[in-house]
Amino acid sequence: MKSLALIFALCLSAFAQGSATHIRNVTIVDGTGKVGFLGDVTIVGNFIARIGKPNSVKARSGDTVIDGSGLVLAPGFIDIHNHSETGLLREGTAANQVSQGITTVIIGPDGGSPESIGEYFGKLEGKIGINVGAFIGHGTVRGIVMKEDYKRASTPEELIALEKLVDEAMKQGAFGLSSGLEYDMGFSATTEELIALSKVAAKHGGIYMTHMRDEEEGVLNAIRESIRIGKEAKIPVQISHIKMGNSSVWGKSAEAIAIVNEAKKAGQDVTADAYPYMAWASTITVLVPSRKHEDTAEVQKGINAIGGADKVLITSCREFPAYEGKTLEQAAAIAGKTPVETYIEIVKKGGAGVIGYGMTESDVKSFYQTPWIMVSSDGGIGSRHPRGTGTFPRVLGRFVRENKWLSLEEAVRKMSFAPAERLGLQDRGRIKKGTKADLVLFDGNTVVDNATFISPQLTSGGIKAVFVNGSKVWDGEKVTGSLSGSILRHR
Ligand SMILES: [Zn+2]
Repeated sequence: MKSLALIFALCLSAFAQGSATHIRNVTIVDGTGKVGFLGDVTIVGNFIARIGKPNSVKARSGDTVIDGSGLVLAPGFIDIHNHSETGLLREGTAANQVSQGITTVIIGPDGGSPESIGEYFGKLEGKIGINVGAFIGHGTVRGIVMKEDYKRASTPEELIALEKLVDEAMKQGAFGLSSGLEYDMGFSATTEELIALSKVAAKHGGIYMTHMRDEEEGVLNAIRESIRIGKEAKIPVQISHIKMGNSSVWGKSAEAIAIVNEAKKAGQDVTADAYPYMAWASTITVLVPSRKHEDTAEVQKGINAIGGADKVLITSCREFPAYEGKTLEQAAAIAGKTPVETYIEIVKKGGAGVIGYGMTESDVKSFYQTPWIMVSSDGGIGSRHPRGTGTFPRVLGRFVRENKWLSLEEAVRKMSFAPAERLGLQDRGRIKKGTKADLVLFDGNTVVDNATFISPQLTSGGIKAVFVNGSKVWDGEKVTGSLSGSILRHR
């Protein structure tokens, strides 16, 4: 009897303990900004069960031991601005997301989200290898209430309906309200409408996250509008993908940062995120916002605004394949025409996919060196911009290792603890005993993005393993098929 009791007790303790995964002798960068240190980390179930001295752990039979020598262990990256909303429905394992160390994506940015956050979560439950949270989109609720008639301010009756939809979404677990004021659906909204809806999100402890009205000539005023919304609605503000978007504002990142710092000094809670690229990807026609594509003066104005025809790289052009991989300036030389004439001809004959080098390195650098600006991708599953696959390794490989713009610890903080704090996620975003085991194991000497504007889907290098809620989802080369992701509901 005695031995049976002993066996029973052993079984019970093994059950309570579970089989463990030990990552040994690894440099732990815990997410808070604290200097990395060597140690062992043990995962049991979906939690971090132990953090100990290097090579101190005693593995039991059945445990998995990973030698972390020479590698870095960081909290899984939290992408606060992610466009995987529909991608997750077809590819729950989210290969290009977890392959860059992302363990949590927050969808519904730029004013566009699922119409029903609750239903969307229901479709994903148990079918995802990555954690997912959501914002409710201002443009989305406008579309529900105002239908096709959205190019105007909302009426008082419509505003009540909009408030109700935001309230419902917040009750279903949205982290806040997102807006996309440069897009048609959000463009006609008044600041007052945004304040009123932000008040509803604030009542539930949510935040206001915004793709602002203007990221070019009017960007500083757009920042002021965001701050005003935050102040009057008494809500924290997250400025999405902060940038100095064309030549008229190049070099003004310091002014943008100063405006936010002043608001922070006055007691407001304002933060931002930025993707680590100097270029956007879109169709060639976005260069001419007036949409007068055959008006030589307007086309010239558009080309000047981005800084010249050498700032536009043609990535796809069905009618003129010889232009692919060439700048608009080079294409014009091939055609024996001016860039303006070449633009007009391309648009007439079906257009082209382009990337526009709309930002300068020094502005991106100063944003990345600002403590309250975190890393986000603005990409997602199937993204045509390399940021969809390369964002996080790009920051680690190029901004940290090659350019030395910021320390590894600070970069990891911007990818984990900072967004976790912003979202109020208390059990994620740092390596600490008892937190959820969302982890990324990488080689700090080789981690780098491989995705380019021509081949945006190329997998990054140096990411050795990724764990979501304690289960390995990325083995260094491919997804494991584990669907251990959770739905994250704001409470
Ligand atoms: Zn956006």
